Amino acid sequence: MTNAVLGPEETTALSLFSELEKYEHEQVIVCSDKKVGLRAIIAIHNTTLGPALGGARMWQYASDTDALIDALRLSRGMTYKAAVSGLNLGGGKAVIIGNSKTDKNEALFRTYGRFVEGLGGRYITAEDVGTDVRDMEWVRMETKYVTGISRALGGSGDPSPVTALGVYMGMKAACAERYGNDSLNKKKVVVQGAGHVAYHLCGYLRREGAKVFVSDLFEEKARRIVTEYGAEFVHPDQIYDVEANIFCPAALGGILNDETIPRLKVDIIAGPANNQLKDEAIHEQMLLDRGILYTPDFVINAGGLINVANELEGYNQERALSQAKEIYDVIKNILLTAKKMKTTANQAAIHLAEERLAKIGQIKQIYAGKSQYAGRLGEMNTRATA
Ligand code: NAD
Repeated sequence: MTNAVLGPEETTALSLFSELEKYEHEQVIVCSDKKVGLRAIIAIHNTTLGPALGGARMWQYASDTDALIDALRLSRGMTYKAAVSGLNLGGGKAVIIGNSKTDKNEALFRTYGRFVEGLGGRYITAEDVGTDVRDMEWVRMETKYVTGISRALGGSGDPSPVTALGVYMGMKAACAERYGNDSLNKKKVVVQGAGHVAYHLCGYLRREGAKVFVSDLFEEKARRIVTEYGAEFVHPDQIYDVEANIFCPAALGGILNDETIPRLKVDIIAGPANNQLKDEAIHEQMLLDRGILYTPDFVINAGGLINVANELEGYNQERALSQAKEIYDVIKNILLTAKKMKTTANQAAIHLAEERLAKIGQIKQIYAGKSQYAGRLGEMNTRATA
């Protein structure tokens, strides 16, 4: 059968299913409401471990296909992040097509919230690039399946202190692997970006006696860390040339690439920024060839997910911080597995995540006594004793 025989709808449907099958996505929900201007795609990758949790990204995609591909890619990443971090959550993500500066309004987010509610808890939403706490408060007016709400409303609020602790613990685990002990005392750490996570992280680093170099495109942000914690300012253009132990990407993604990697004079890369490697396979190998130890970004920055996951059980920051400390053992295990398997840290992390999904998926095959006939059996017993 040729495409000329198939109508355009069928052609799209065929490629949609092959996209889903490629990485075994479970479900894609396309949400539309012309009146409020909502165009959103929710992708649920895997719910073996629990409800799919992931942020709602608001972005002006070049095409609907780009939006779909992004939702599929990001939701799969969430499955791995939750699985390797030991959380009982699945992977999901939503993309809302639009301009986050000009297209936001209450009706749009409340409509989105109603679609999320309609999924009955299979997907739990949160903020992401282009959305913020205020948007999630609109979403919350229509659904209980939302996290990342402000502290004032009983939510978890700003996740960055928890993310920072996870990154700090991940750095220590990387040092243990590289230097044989996990002390950061007198270690030199170069931090790119002086935003929310970097601010708390630099506090931890300085308290342990590390020497910190920091840069930001907005110099005053870096200057705050210089003044409060005694770090040294570095111009953003020179950040890749500083000789140090650890390079910490805490700004944007894609910064580990053909141009920057040859400039690095460090032993370890460990930082919170998402998608640090411009090309995952090529640039992680490039780091390996240069003898630089890379800690997978989606693992070391899992404190953010740990924080919102905690909100589901009634938020308690002490518990979230204590769970974020476990990133130390997770990173150690990944680096050990990478060595054993003679593979990269990213691949080892994905392997461990898939292993957990397979094992936990397996235990769910055991009948645990909650019968679908429970209601009817109860009814029969009642009748018998009446
Ligand atoms: P943020 O927006 O508060 O800080 C980022 C900072 O980087 C800003 O101050 C910005 O001016 C600066 N910056 C941008 N480009 C730069 C460049 N080329 N050189 C120097 N500085 C530059 O963000 P954040 O919340 O601190 O998060 C930092 C990174 O970690 C982001 O990539 C984010 O996606 C990721 N992350 C954050 C969390 C969290 O809990 N906040 C959780 C997981 C991942």
